[in-house]
Amino acid sequence: MSEENPSTAPTGQAPVSRGGRRRSAASVPDLVEKARTGDARAVARLISLVEDASPLLREVMAGLAPYTGNAQIVGITGSPGVGKSTSTSALVTALRASGKRVGVLAVDPSSPFSGGALLGDRIRMQEHATDPDVYIRSMASRGHLGGLSWSTPQALRVLDAAGCDVVLVETVGVGQSEVEIAGLADTTLVLLAPGMGDGIQAAKAGILEIGDVYVVNKADRDGAEQVRRDLRNMIALAERSEDAWRPPIALTVAQTGQGVDEVVEAIDAHRAWMESSGELERRRMRRARDEIEAIAVTALRARWGDVHARTELDDLAEQVAAGKSDPYRAADSLLDSFTELDSATP
Ligand code: GDP
Repeated sequence: MSEENPSTAPTGQAPVSRGGRRRSAASVPDLVEKARTGDARAVARLISLVEDASPLLREVMAGLAPYTGNAQIVGITGSPGVGKSTSTSALVTALRASGKRVGVLAVDPSSPFSGGALLGDRIRMQEHATDPDVYIRSMASRGHLGGLSWSTPQALRVLDAAGCDVVLVETVGVGQSEVEIAGLADTTLVLLAPGMGDGIQAAKAGILEIGDVYVVNKADRDGAEQVRRDLRNMIALAERSEDAWRPPIALTVAQTGQGVDEVVEAIDAHRAWMESSGELERRRMRRARDEIEAIAVTALRARWGDVHARTELDDLAEQVAAGKSDPYRAADSLLDSFTELDSATP
């Protein structure tokens, strides 16, 4: 597996690596080539470049582009404690049993720190640690200007190009990440469990709009059947066209793996439906659009930072504060100075 050394180093400070070692300059084509052949260190290194917002990323993404588009990205969401981590591990086992190469990306949208320690917590994953066809990686995203929408798709591209058939994306920590994860995935798994008030929570959190497959975990506990019934009723109420996907509901005991094969079948069925209905294409187009936008907006903000540092803004602020100008006119002047900046740059 590809987990790198744990670190507490903030992101965005390339080229100092996790653990404080200074990295030697990498040959990007070499790294890309190695990652494609499944070299775990190269994969880990490329994801670190994403996490560090390295200036080499442009070249990395250009190098990876021809080899992407094969992996099925599966997002896993649900309230803390519902069993996401246990289920992810059980899913890895089931997917490996069917011969698939699997990537796991645990994203912590609430932390600016790299997640070595956080994955270290996730002992369950260690049973996959020696499997060369499983890549497990955690990643912090708060350090990035563009957050989840900026860094996660790029890390997914690395795992995709490395030949993963399926990449499981799990968010850890808290944050408004569930819907965001759904936007990044081909297939979104929503986990619920009895005794957590999940039925009501699901309706509240808008989870009913994002699930492609529902999993009622902790089926060994009382009330799992009831959660399934409630969920089925709620899903039935949603308006759907004749040929729309009807999200299946699986019951699992993630700790023992019971029911997990059914989840894998549902994931496969969803993929097949997406391919035949054109939905896969639509989702990938939407994702590419979001990704381009996130990169462009991040770049704009970085340039805005430059403008912000200029005395112009202070001058304008003085005029607005003194009532000599109004904020709209001042904003126009600022935007004009942007354009001048652009035309002055070759
Ligand atoms: P996460 O916070 O959503 O990632 O949840 P975890 O995977 O860490 O699981 C939370 C707790 O629920 C842990 O103590 C697990 O051992 C337990 N758990 C997970 N799956 C099951 C299950 O199917 N049945 C029962 N009884 N407990 C489970």
